Amino acid sequence: MTAPADSAAAQPRVKASPLQAVRGMNDVLPDEAALWLDLEDAARRVFSLYGYRNLRVPIVEPTPLYVRGIGEHTDVVEKEMYTFEDRLSGESLTMRPEATAGIVRAAIEHNLCYERPQRVWLAGPMFRHERPQKGRYRQFHQFDVEALGFPGPDVDAEQMVMLARLWRELGLADGIALQVNSIGDAPERRAHRAALVEHFERHEGLLDADAKRRLHANPLRILDSKTPAMQAMIAEAPRLLDGLGNESRAHFDRLRQLLSDAGIAFEVNPRLVRGLDYYNRTVFEWVTSRLGAQGTVAGGGRYDGLFEALGGKPTPACGFAIGIERMILLLQDAKRAAGDAPVAFVVHAGDGTEALAVRVAESLRDAGCATVVNAGGGSFKSQMKRADASGARYALIVGEDEARDGTVSIKPLREPGEQRAVAAGGIVNALVPAQARAGR
Ligand code: ATP
Ligand code: MG
Repeated sequence: MTAPADSAAAQPRVKASPLQAVRGMNDVLPDEAALWLDLEDAARRVFSLYGYRNLRVPIVEPTPLYVRGIGEHTDVVEKEMYTFEDRLSGESLTMRPEATAGIVRAAIEHNLCYERPQRVWLAGPMFRHERPQKGRYRQFHQFDVEALGFPGPDVDAEQMVMLARLWRELGLADGIALQVNSIGDAPERRAHRAALVEHFERHEGLLDADAKRRLHANPLRILDSKTPAMQAMIAEAPRLLDGLGNESRAHFDRLRQLLSDAGIAFEVNPRLVRGLDYYNRTVFEWVTSRLGAQGTVAGGGRYDGLFEALGGKPTPACGFAIGIERMILLLQDAKRAAGDAPVAFVVHAGDGTEALAVRVAESLRDAGCATVVNAGGGSFKSQMKRADASGARYALIVGEDEARDGTVSIKPLREPGEQRAVAAGGIVNALVPAQARAGR
């Protein structure tokens, strides 16, 4: 239908302002989506190699599922959920902030574990109302993997071995490290909780507002606090790992044995607690230093009590989730590092530094290492920014002290490690074997 000509003439044409995506919810355009497809292919292949089968559950679930499943006093339930009232029924509904509760609901509803335990996985969007930043969004995506009906610790280890294989397939194995812990069973957790409350009450003056609020509701979460003034006090808090009962201890010992037998490197982190209430015994995270504060790329653990909490039969289970956006950031970083990025970027400032910087760069180029020397001056700080943006594995720093002593300071940019000084003549030996080890 066309509008009458006179009404179009009578109304001034107002240019509509373009609409934008909801803050923290991202488009994935074709260049980047190619990486998503690669990652999804690799994940599906690896999951199916271990007998995990796909399942899909709704994005929207009744709100009580998450309040009962995740826990009333968790960050997710307290402040991150997208909850709304169904316009017709008035029922409170929530966009899923994580997948485990929905999968367990589905398993109970369909009696999925009636005949045998089940290994399942799911991929899809999750929703949390967080402050958007690199690696943290309001709509984000996860692979979620669950072993339902297994008491472990064999499947706990299996899942970590499977993830190690996925990182290898993606070429990310040397950038991601495994941390494990045991947070015990309910009685141990209760005893630990009481000891924690006592400890925190003794240091009440140091607690921030969040911690005070959590003191009685969820003291375990205080261990997760990032407040600098509380760190020393947190470090002295009683550790659950020291008070494990015999069964939890045996479970954890066996898990560590299985990981060692499989050749999986890991670190026991007694401070590792997870943000959702349903975990017990095994908890684990895979962390990287390449993504700043958003360093956890995957996390999970055992949740032997969740089926019962949601009205099902006792069913031990273990699972984990991978943050897909964070994996994509790592893949992009690795591609850049593997592609046209130089091995080293030389920064130099001060009298007599440029000649040494150029000499060091030439010796690296003689050895076949692509090396960029900062051009155009600038402060150390701005040169370091350029070094990082170049994708170089190492910044080589030549200041006046180095020029005087004939040394160069090496700072790793893509992996953990302290800055260290080497003699300028030894720079090739210092960098080339390290680079060959990394396989790039
Ligand atoms: P964090 O401590 O980073 O907030 P979390 O403990 O809340 O993580 P989980 O609930 O364990 O995260 O989710 C598993 C994974 O999902 C995380 O390790 C991370 O990779 C990813 N993830 C969680 N929240 C977000 C988010 N808001 N945006 C992007 N990825 C996320
Ligand atoms: Mg979180």
